[in-house]
Amino acid sequence: MKKVALSACLMGHSCRYDASDNLNETLLKKLSLYKIIPFCPEDDAFGSPRPTMDLIENGQTIEAISNKTNENLSLPITLYAQNFFNQHPDIKLFIGKDRSPSCGVCSAKIYNQNRDLIATNGTGLMAQEALKRGITSWDSELY
Ligand code: SF4
Repeated sequence: MKKVALSACLMGHSCRYDASDNLNETLLKKLSLYKIIPFCPEDDAFGSPRPTMDLIENGQTIEAISNKTNENLSLPITLYAQNFFNQHPDIKLFIGKDRSPSCGVCSAKIYNQNRDLIATNGTGLMAQEALKRGITSWDSELY
């Protein structure tokens, strides 16, 4: 059975920032021939509920910055992503929750240092790692 990496909130895990979920039964039906490997970098690193974060452009890099403390939260998300894909090298498909600063593939909002919105087609930090490894990646709303 082929493996798909899927944002855990889409499976009904209560791991969103407000400890709710994004259960998507239509999507789960479409993936019935796959073995689903769920992931949630933010729940793993910060727990649920947790303060929200935004993606902020900083020179050539995009950083996940806490909306509560302004702390740079990028490293634990990226480390989680690297570890996840190292543990599952046979994953061929990645489906991330659209618009998430961690999981969105081409739908994440990007802000500049003044917190002005500069793009709505950004890639979240976990999705960046999937793309870097050549994994076919989709936003959940487009799959
Ligand atoms: S979008 Fe990603 S980081 Fe956010 S709750 Fe879902 S799995 Fe976790």
